[in-house]
Amino acid sequence: MAVAGGGLAGLATAHALLSLGLALDRDVRVRVWDPAGAGGAGASRAAAGLLHPLTPRGTVAFRGPEGMAATRALLASASAALGRPCYADVPVARLALGDDLKRDAKLKTLGGSGEGREWWPADRLHAAGGAGAGAGAESCEGALVVPGAAVDMAAYLEGLSLACARDFAQSSYALERAPLPSQAALCSDGYDAVVYCTGASAIGLPGFPFTLTPSPGVNVVFGPAEGAGPLPSSLALIAGKYVVPVGGGAALAGALQVPRDADGRAFAPLLDHLGAGCPARECPVAVDARAAADALLDATSLGRIYPPLAGAVPVEARAGVRASSPPGPGGRLLPTAGRLLGGGDDSSPVARWALVGLGARGLLYHALAAAHLAEALLADDSDLIPPEFAHALGQE
Ligand SMILES: Cc1cc2nc3c(=O)[nH]c(=O)nc-3n(C[C@H](O)[C@H](O)[C@H](O)COP(=O)(O)OP(=O)(O)OC[C@H]3O[C@@H](n4cnc5c(N)ncnc54)[C@H](O)[C@@H]3O)c2cc1C
Repeated sequence: MAVAGGGLAGLATAHALLSLGLALDRDVRVRVWDPAGAGGAGASRAAAGLLHPLTPRGTVAFRGPEGMAATRALLASASAALGRPCYADVPVARLALGDDLKRDAKLKTLGGSGEGREWWPADRLHAAGGAGAGAGAESCEGALVVPGAAVDMAAYLEGLSLACARDFAQSSYALERAPLPSQAALCSDGYDAVVYCTGASAIGLPGFPFTLTPSPGVNVVFGPAEGAGPLPSSLALIAGKYVVPVGGGAALAGALQVPRDADGRAFAPLLDHLGAGCPARECPVAVDARAAADALLDATSLGRIYPPLAGAVPVEARAGVRASSPPGPGGRLLPTAGRLLGGGDDSSPVARWALVGLGARGLLYHALAAAHLAEALLADDSDLIPPEFAHALGQE
């Protein structure tokens, strides 16, 4: 099997194929191709690393609990391969900010309604690390809190590739620091199938009967100001924007929407770069940390959910492009997994599959979707993929 892309989707697919091959006692061999290596580029490298099962409304995402369990299993494998944890368990707090009183009241009622969701009033948020309330205390009533994790993305992706190399029979896994070869070359090298896991680079590839929607984003790591203490770091905060503790007294912050500058343009340095023809595979784009921080703080009122950021020092900024699948029934946002028909050389014996469109919830769904894809691919039966992951391919 050839896998194009060494991000969350590609490495989870490689691991799932190898695991299932082992369970079925089949000789499965996987080669992952990515010019940037494992997790060296793409949205996966730019991601904030926040894992939780909540929707923006505070409900639990469809198949979220299964997604959490599948991801946690891969996090454990990657940590074992690395010999150190590549994530930290953190409570994730969906703040009730008073912007939408009806929704905030609803968040309160969801506390105690399962999946570990709890309602924390403002004073408990303060006590847990000063987060959330702060200067916005008058309008932050509290938060719906769930168990989640802050993942060190670079370490996780490296660990996942190491786990593929170490946990299975020798030479059943290889990582090539190169673009995927042509289908003709794969065919002459004896590959049975190729899985496209190329993130936003899949946009425009032949054979995709649906459109992926790109959405650029930027994250900034803030460290404490000189002479100041570490940023309080016991909770991750979300409310359209997010603040994630990343250890060492630092915090990572970003927003789901690209911030606008004073002229109403979307965050200019990032979009200029992307507009200049930056292929998505070259992301994450390292952008000026001060400029990114100013844009974020000005445009998203991040300081309102985490006042210490105003005095903190921007250390590093990364930008990347999320690619989302079309919404499914009920507006569900899930990745797309399945077999591609047409668009390639259909006479080629190399079957074409894809796992793309992970959107803003890559960590929640990559392991679960990859497990479904591996099962279908090894059985050569795309019907084994649940319809919610295949609707965009017309394979429900
Ligand atoms: C700013 C930002 C913050 C985010 N924060 C979070 C978060 O906190 N939690 C969360 O769950 N999700 C988050 N996401 C979403 C998450 O990052 C994505 O859903 C996920 O990383 C997508 O993974 P992927 O493997 O599909 O794509 P990518 O990570 O983009 O990987 C695609 C890979 O394909 C490679 N490639 C492209 N073309 C080729 C080719 N021809 N041959 C070989 N390789 C190729 C690229 O080099 C790249 O490595 C965030 C995204 C962004 C942009």
